[in-house]
Amino acid sequence: MLLSERIKRIKPSPTLAMNAKALSMRAAGIDVISFGVGEPDFETPGHIRDEAVQAIEDGFTRYTAVGGIPELKDAITEKFRRDNNLSYERDQILVSCGGKHVLYNIAQALLNPGDEVIIAAPYWVSYPPIVILAGADPVIVGTREADDFKLSPESLEAAITPRTKLLILNSPSNPTGSVYTESELDALAEVILKHNICVVSDEIYEKLIFDGRLFCGIAQVSEELKSKTIVVNGVSKTYAMTGWRIGYAAGAREIIAGMTKIQSQSTSNPNSIAQKAAVVALNGPQDPVQAMVRVFDERRKYLLQRLNAIPGVRCNMPGGAFYAFPNLSYYFNAGTKATTTKGSSDLCEYLLTEARVALVPGIAFGDDDFMRFSYATGLETIREGLDRIEEALGKLV
Ligand SMILES: *Cc1c(COP(=O)(O)O)cnc(C)c1O
Repeated sequence: MLLSERIKRIKPSPTLAMNAKALSMRAAGIDVISFGVGEPDFETPGHIRDEAVQAIEDGFTRYTAVGGIPELKDAITEKFRRDNNLSYERDQILVSCGGKHVLYNIAQALLNPGDEVIIAAPYWVSYPPIVILAGADPVIVGTREADDFKLSPESLEAAITPRTKLLILNSPSNPTGSVYTESELDALAEVILKHNICVVSDEIYEKLIFDGRLFCGIAQVSEELKSKTIVVNGVSKTYAMTGWRIGYAAGAREIIAGMTKIQSQSTSNPNSIAQKAAVVALNGPQDPVQAMVRVFDERRKYLLQRLNAIPGVRCNMPGGAFYAFPNLSYYFNAGTKATTTKGSSDLCEYLLTEARVALVPGIAFGDDDFMRFSYATGLETIREGLDRIEEALGKLV
């Protein structure tokens, strides 16, 4: 059986080998500490779970409208009005099976072979393959650690060609945790409007934001920008609902209609029960989110203080999400005895074997000098993991 050309263009994830090794170590009874997880370690709040149980009891278990139930679309438009000062009509909203599915639908609805999509590195691992699966070409633009990994208007402009169709922005960012300010978005907006490209704004970590920052999405910059932006969001990260699979998009009618058509011929509607639960998540009390953010904040501060205290390690303070992205290049080629660590994959491998700690190598996100730490894990585990890492790194120099 011959696989499609499309599939041949997708590379296996560099994190998979590491993950498989961590799992087999665990299976062998070795206590591996994982900083690899990409989801909150909290339970979905009780009132949301109750609503799902009620939906089952009420028999709300059949197909729904392909693009989501009207009640949920209304909760979403209300959320945009309340939180982002953006107004959308129902037919400008699509509910899909998670934020990732929203991104997939966007790519399928908008991209032709030969189109280019600008992605700032470090980037979320799924952006390039989603673009490639639509037959288009990802154009990776590097950012600087000193700029807190934010795309500059100059490097954006330099990457634009006549084939550029989309720019993907992600704030707060996975993997760096960096958050764009309103004035930084203003500067990017000028370039975007000048060259008439569209923007996908992935705002899945909107609510996980620290130090009193106010979230600003690029659609909020101006009415003109809003008309060129597809906002991507969802309940996965904000409400600890990763397994429920509800994400949503807001944007121009014709794009949403195109995405809905693709969804109608692929997955159909997202899960009916999860849609009911998402209505309550968006409309209900938001204090569980605040409680989660406080816990993340405490871990963030502890982790950052520990990382920056390790000789040669440097880490920017993340403003949002639940990741830290330290520069560990000091330890490359530092190898003693049997080990030489040439890049983030080697160092990950070394830390897994030597310290029994699992991380994700920066190369998976397009920057080999770094490693991603997720702090969606308890403070005690973070403490123990950092003790082990510190000791293992100390043996390399
Ligand atoms: C987790 C995540 C998503 C989407 O997650 P879903 O579980 O599909 O809703 C989208 N973008 C980024 C950057 C993420 O980290």
